[in-house]
Amino acid sequence: MEMRGLIQKRVFVSGGASGIGHAIVDRLLNEKSIVFVMDRNCEESHSENVSYLKGDVTDLADLARLKDFLAEKRVDVIVNNAGITRDSTIFKMTDEQWSEVINTNLTAVYRVSQIGAELLRNQGTGGAIINMASVVAHYGNFGQANYVASKAGVIGLTKTLAKELAKYNIRVNAVAPGFIATEMVQKMPEKVVSMMIEKTPLRRLGTPGEIAALIAFLASDESQYITGACINADGGVTL
Ligand code: NDP
Repeated sequence: MEMRGLIQKRVFVSGGASGIGHAIVDRLLNEKSIVFVMDRNCEESHSENVSYLKGDVTDLADLARLKDFLAEKRVDVIVNNAGITRDSTIFKMTDEQWSEVINTNLTAVYRVSQIGAELLRNQGTGGAIINMASVVAHYGNFGQANYVASKAGVIGLTKTLAKELAKYNIRVNAVAPGFIATEMVQKMPEKVVSMMIEKTPLRRLGTPGEIAALIAFLASDESQYITGACINADGGVTL
């Protein structure tokens, strides 16, 4: 299904080189959007419709470069997708594991949102910010105190920014995927993956394309009255 208002829309996607981010880039290119990516795990490349900036969204110098790049190109939508896990129970969690996850999944979302909000406000065009949360933010997850805290933080950040930015017609929403078949999930033990599937009423993992479809909807003009929402795409696992 083609979505209204995505043609020529300029969308930034963090972590767009693999997994869900890659599916988001593909979907947006199919919708004829213009896509900018920053990923630490990609080759730098620039073409008419898509630019890949090699960079780390936790690095202030890379963020300064991103800000200049987006200011020059203009941007309509920011998708904060980059995220990592560093799992450990509370007894074994190191400060490094804690900080790495909070810095990537929460602090970088705040920083990129700040850059995006300023650009969108100055352009006066309105726009959208979409943040990647996770269903585990709603109910916790064994061994993921850092990750769950970061994703719960993302949901709170999303709601607050939705209130602060509404007057500029900037919509801010979060997406909470359930268990999606990407490397992050595939590197888990098979037993854990089968347990996840068993807990999911639709009895399967989601696909990156299914999350990309929701992101495309929230980036498009079809969702113009939606802000401050956190939409689950989880096969019913939160029921
Ligand atoms: P992947 O690891 O497959 O892809 C994430 C991409 O982002 C990778 O290319 C990664 O590079 C890059 N990245 C990570 N940190 C940074 C950084 N600091 N700066 C720039 N790029 C970075 O992850 P997924 O596609 O599975 O996940 C995408 C998002 O969806 C994440 O926010 C995740 O928390 C969320 N999510 C995923 C679920 C799932 O089941 N897969 C479920 C719920 C939420 P590198 O390879 O070097 O790490």
